[in-house]
Amino acid sequence: MTSFENLIRAVPDFPKPGVIFRDITPMLADAAAFASCIDAMVEPWQGSGVQAVCGVESRGFIFAAAMAQKLGAGFIPLRKPGKLPPPVMHADYQLEYGTDRLEARVDTLRQGERVLLVDDVLATGGTLGAARNLLGQLGAELVGASVVIELLALQGRKLWPENIPLHTLLHY
Ligand code: IMP
Repeated sequence: MTSFENLIRAVPDFPKPGVIFRDITPMLADAAAFASCIDAMVEPWQGSGVQAVCGVESRGFIFAAAMAQKLGAGFIPLRKPGKLPPPVMHADYQLEYGTDRLEARVDTLRQGERVLLVDDVLATGGTLGAARNLLGQLGAELVGASVVIELLALQGRKLWPENIPLHTLLHY
C-alpha cells in the first residue's frame, strides 16, 4: 500500500524565508495515496450523520468534496471574498499582516444541518476559527472538523473549542 505521508513534500523557505511549506500535490497525483488519505480522513466520521461537508477555499475543496462523496453528504464551499453570488454571510480573521474573509451562501444550509468542516492544514487556527464562526451564523450544527496536516508548533488547536471533535491526520 502506498503511504500517503511519504508523498507530502517539505519545501523550505516557501512562500517566504523561514517557512517550511507542506506540499500535498505529489500525494494528490498518486491515485492510491490520495484514496488512502481520503479513507483515513472519512473513517472517524462514519455513522456520525454528517449531511454536508464544508471545504475551505482552495485546498480544502479537494478533500471536502472527496469526503462528501464517501459520506453520502453534500459539499458546500466556504470561499474567499467576492467569489460567490449574493446573498452571502461572512466571517473575518486575522492574518500576519491584515485580515482575510470567508463567505458562504446564506441559503446553502438548513437550520440545524449536521456539517463537517474540512481544510488541508491547521497552522495558527485562524482560518478554521473563521469557518466555524461562519457556520454558526448559518445555523449549522457543527459535528466536527477534519484537517490533513496539523502544524503543532503553531498551536492552532488552542483556538478550537475542546467540546467539538477536531481530527488531524498528520502532525509536524
Ligand atoms: P491558519 O489560518 O494559520 O491555521 O492557516 C491555515 C491555512 O493556511 C490553510 O487554509 C492552509 O491552506 C494554509 N497553510 C498554512 N500553512 C500551510 C502549509 O504549510 N502548506 C499548505 N497550506 C498551508
